[in-house]
Amino acid sequence: MSILYDLHSHSTASDGTLTPAALVRRAREQGVNVLALTDHDVTDGLEEARRAAHEAGLQLINGVEISVTWHGVTVHIVGLNFDPANASLQAGLAGLRKYRVWRGEEIARRLEKKGIPDALEGAKAFSNGQILSRTHFARFLVAQGHAKDMRKVFGKFLIHNRPGYVPGEWAMLADAVGWIRAAGGQAVIAHPARYRLSATRLRALIEDFMACGGEVLEVVSGSHSAGDVQGMAQYARRYELLVSQGSDYHGPEQSWLELGKMPPMPDGCTPVWTVWDTGQGASA
Ligand code: AMP
Ligand code: MN
Ligand code: MN
Ligand code: MN
Repeated sequence: MSILYDLHSHSTASDGTLTPAALVRRAREQGVNVLALTDHDVTDGLEEARRAAHEAGLQLINGVEISVTWHGVTVHIVGLNFDPANASLQAGLAGLRKYRVWRGEEIARRLEKKGIPDALEGAKAFSNGQILSRTHFARFLVAQGHAKDMRKVFGKFLIHNRPGYVPGEWAMLADAVGWIRAAGGQAVIAHPARYRLSATRLRALIEDFMACGGEVLEVVSGSHSAGDVQGMAQYARRYELLVSQGSDYHGPEQSWLELGKMPPMPDGCTPVWTVWDTGQGASA
């Protein structure tokens, strides 16, 4: 029997639109056997997801997606299969959430200067968890008619050089990897092709990441093209990194993405789950 793994997904605990329980049920309906919930900078959804997973007959892997600033670039480091009660991990995540509070206020101040008042309250109305994300601002701005859809609203307001963009000061790479490892998990460079780094810079990121104890590259991602998947598989083989795969699902509104729907993993890659003792067997 082949086992379907989806090791990157979001719930209402961060910027997804399904509750952890609804996400788990949908994953099961889509044929996913092993799901990681990887909310941004928070692990609050894991408990509800675990209960739902037990009921649905699906295996839940503890996950998180940590915001990192590496040489001025925002990079996402996913943590998998760790102990969420670990104090060092939770202290690190709490620090990031504190920065998010200030950043949310700053985004709202900048939007106000552009004639868009009350964006902080507006964005918060779209958030159900402890964190405020650019995604929540984007949903508010679309609802207010400032742009037609999510892609356009990011392009107009929320990315580099746009009025609502605040340059991030997230965790250090070594700290994020260290927290995950302290909690007994594996660190993953999420969607590595999304950062648009030159080959030289991507190699530097991978080498820095490995020097801190990072072990995994997310080769298959819902946000990777077929070419990206092949390219990232080459890096994984060259550096002998383990590989991961995940849809990066945020909810049914993103109709082009679905839980468990991903291109196949290229040959010659060693999946991260082969080193787990999960009771699901070692092969995919
Ligand atoms: P934050 O961590 O608050 O800066 O928000 C980052 C999140 O915004 C990502 O995890 C995506 O879910 C979303 N996002 C970033 N860029 C875009 C984009 N161009 N279009 C749609 N969503 C985006
Ligand atoms: Mn997100
Ligand atoms: Mn990400
Ligand atoms: Mn993600």
